[in-house]
Amino acid sequence: MSGCVVQKYGGSSLADARAIKAVAGRIAARRRSGRDVVVVVSAMGDRTDELAAMALEIDPAPDRRELDVLLSTGELVSCTLTAMALSALGEPAKSLAGWQAGIHTTSRFGRAQILSIDVSPIRRELARGNTVIIAGFQGIGPEQEVTTLGRGGSDTTAVAVAAALGADRCEIYTDVEGIYTADPNLVPGAERLEEIGFEEMLEMASHGAKMQPRAVELAMVYDVPTYIASSFSEAAGTLVHGGADMTGEGRVGEVRKRVRGIVTDRGFAKITILGVPDRPGLAARVFEPLSAADVSIDEIVMNAGQDAFTDFTFTVRESDLEAALEVVHPLSVEMGGRGTVSSGGLAKVSIVGTGMRDEPGYASRMFGALARSGINIELITTSEIRITCIVAEQSLGEAARALHAVFELG
Ligand code: ASP
Ligand code: MG
Repeated sequence: MSGCVVQKYGGSSLADARAIKAVAGRIAARRRSGRDVVVVVSAMGDRTDELAAMALEIDPAPDRRELDVLLSTGELVSCTLTAMALSALGEPAKSLAGWQAGIHTTSRFGRAQILSIDVSPIRRELARGNTVIIAGFQGIGPEQEVTTLGRGGSDTTAVAVAAALGADRCEIYTDVEGIYTADPNLVPGAERLEEIGFEEMLEMASHGAKMQPRAVELAMVYDVPTYIASSFSEAAGTLVHGGADMTGEGRVGEVRKRVRGIVTDRGFAKITILGVPDRPGLAARVFEPLSAADVSIDEIVMNAGQDAFTDFTFTVRESDLEAALEVVHPLSVEMGGRGTVSSGGLAKVSIVGTGMRDEPGYASRMFGALARSGINIELITTSEIRITCIVAEQSLGEAARALHAVFELG
């Protein structure tokens, strides 16, 4: 649907009635420029956290079906209020819950994936001259159950709706002015990127940049140009699009920086199972029960065995550490291992750039910079276009600043 734009507003942009009115003003201005506008909203402020905390107060392991219905109400509040605020400005608007907007998902509560979107209800409202405000982060499962898409899921709703409508682009408005070469709170010289490729953005989102990786994946698959900018200012943001990945070199006369950015992510823990007899099926034996316990494993490092014994280490979110240890302790005994060690307080610092693919030397520059700053590396993992070091959380800022300087990103 050419001429149609999908906008998404995050929770911090919708913190109270005043903020919602301000957002409505921005939507109205866009509408008056002659576009069909479809808006996806997150829950107001920290509403999702508050709802989840309330559920935990009632039951430490709340029923997942009930929890999803509860969490979905956050977005219902913000989408109805936003529709009212628009109408008050004289712009006809209609709110739609995820299920009303035709967003069909898998049945997995708390982490459902969008399977398809029947856009006819959205199109019908647009044809009637309404701006459509969709409750993000939710959909409906095969058995007519309300589902949610995982934290940060409204980004995914927005990109999926843009893809389904064939919109010109998706615009994600948030509390930062786009994607930076590093977190400006850690690195004072960090600069906003004008553009970034899908592939690079996917690595950044998966390793700390504030956008749901699933949303980037969808944008990449359906080739939806996605613009990330501040909802509080008119400042330019960052365009995430397909073209930017291709440029091995930069604009004429300028060699493109091959490390595009540095991303940081906190709150990790590592677990090592020591000296287990090395035989086929070992990894499956550990990771199957972890996934059954719904612990998501972040990075895995398994050493080549020595004398028929091996160690293996993996990282999890700190919040999953206890649950992971409950599974791993008895297992390591069962498997005849020498025990389990674990530590929390870890963080990840990653360098990302497609240009790294065909040029060696990035790893040594990264490790050298960290060494000169006296920062100990706990674990290293890589992809074709990313190198990640796991370090102590308290040295994260220094690590990011050292890398930002050595790769000349300022
Ligand atoms: N409200 C949900 C959350 O806080 C979804 C979102 O904001 O995208 O995770
Ligand atoms: Mg939120």
